[in-house]
Amino acid sequence: MGIMDRNRHLEQTDKACIWHPFTQMKQWQEMTPVVIEEGRGEFLKDIYGRWYLDGVASLWVNVHGHRKKEIDEAIKAQIDRISHSTLLGLANVPSVELAERLIKIVPKGLTRVFYSDNGSTSVEIALKMAFQYWKNRGVQGKDAFVCLNNAYHGDTIGAVSVGGIDLFHEIYRPLLFKTYRVPSPYCYRCELGLEPSTCGLKCLEAVEEVLSKHHNEIAAIILEPLVQGAGGMIVHPAGYLKGVRELTKRYNVLLIADEVAVGFGRTGRMFACEHEDVVPDFLCLSKGITGGYLPLAVTVTTDEVYNAFLGEYRELKTFFHGHSYTGNPLACAASLANLELFEKEKTLEGVNKKATILGKWLDEIKELRHVGDARGIGLIGGVELVEDKKSKKPYAFELQMGYRVCNSAREKGLLIRPLGNVIVIMPPLCISEENLQKMLSIIKDSIVEVTEG
Ligand SMILES: *Cc1c(COP(=O)(O)O)cnc(C)c1O
Repeated sequence: MGIMDRNRHLEQTDKACIWHPFTQMKQWQEMTPVVIEEGRGEFLKDIYGRWYLDGVASLWVNVHGHRKKEIDEAIKAQIDRISHSTLLGLANVPSVELAERLIKIVPKGLTRVFYSDNGSTSVEIALKMAFQYWKNRGVQGKDAFVCLNNAYHGDTIGAVSVGGIDLFHEIYRPLLFKTYRVPSPYCYRCELGLEPSTCGLKCLEAVEEVLSKHHNEIAAIILEPLVQGAGGMIVHPAGYLKGVRELTKRYNVLLIADEVAVGFGRTGRMFACEHEDVVPDFLCLSKGITGGYLPLAVTVTTDEVYNAFLGEYRELKTFFHGHSYTGNPLACAASLANLELFEKEKTLEGVNKKATILGKWLDEIKELRHVGDARGIGLIGGVELVEDKKSKKPYAFELQMGYRVCNSAREKGLLIRPLGNVIVIMPPLCISEENLQKMLSIIKDSIVEVTEG
């Protein structure tokens, strides 16, 4: 088979066999997929040898770039020892070493690591642990959860139950458990109709209202600290996270911090909770944990929670939960190499330097006629396109404006993915300043082309 035949075969077979995530497959069938064959640094190469900037960090996971020597070698070395053994009834070397290392870097007081293999499961585990914690302590009735509008915590049923993106989640409502939803601290479209400069964080009062009325029924509140990612890169006002933490303490409710997207340096600190000196009861981590190499997740919790699960076997306080690939040695080895690189390459310093470039650009892009808001922190950016700037009228979702901007960027050598009308900026943390500038200028050109062209 010639190379062109092979390429066409791959494209056709993809369409014939694969059902892609979050994708309208009818639309997919009508276009030619980009088939990636290779990567290097912040670039991806397709089967025709075309290189693209990986502006979405392979869905928010990549940290130090593709084919990073140190991570490649750590995985290869681990393969020569063993690729997988179970944590059910056995321990393994890399999972112990990684847990020890994680405990040193997460907010102080988080001391117990429960492994799984993706962000959704790390959330499921936190939800189940929080629920069972109260039962094990003999406290009855704390069966519900509080979550935020626009929240995204994954796609499994428990994670969807605490989700707040109606476009994704509404259809499943009859399958989901009970939650109390509170407003999203989305300042550009404040649900309370207020202005950030004068609101006094009124959205915290809405949280307090629910907790003061229902705390006897509430096991935990779950949120994405600082940035609601899939909800549209919604950056929270300063003080919100800390305020929620204080309320949870006052009303005896646990706090689950889902840092699956914002953890591992994205916001300029290792973990977003550090920005507000918050120690949650549960910290959910995945995405960047292996540098974007392999599926791995952890739910880190406190001695207080852990100890509530101790008892005689017959007392049934055990946490009966686990996955086939829990604590996978290859993924843990990749993660250890990833964490070493953070120190060796001073990754956080680099993020903060590039954050300044991004921040400046976000301010400038707001001048465009169809950019309603542009927001970010660290190496996270969101540009919200609107039909009418004055009234903040959004483009109708079926116009797929974000999608069209991303298609235009692709023709210019940049791969990004939108969230509805929000253009997402999420490059690998290692991106060079030059390539960041290039990415931002392609995005600007593409927005102008699609919205003003
Ligand atoms: C991506 C994401 C998840 C889900 O992680 P998966 O690995 O896709 O299951 C959960 N929470 C947040 C905040 C995320 O961004």
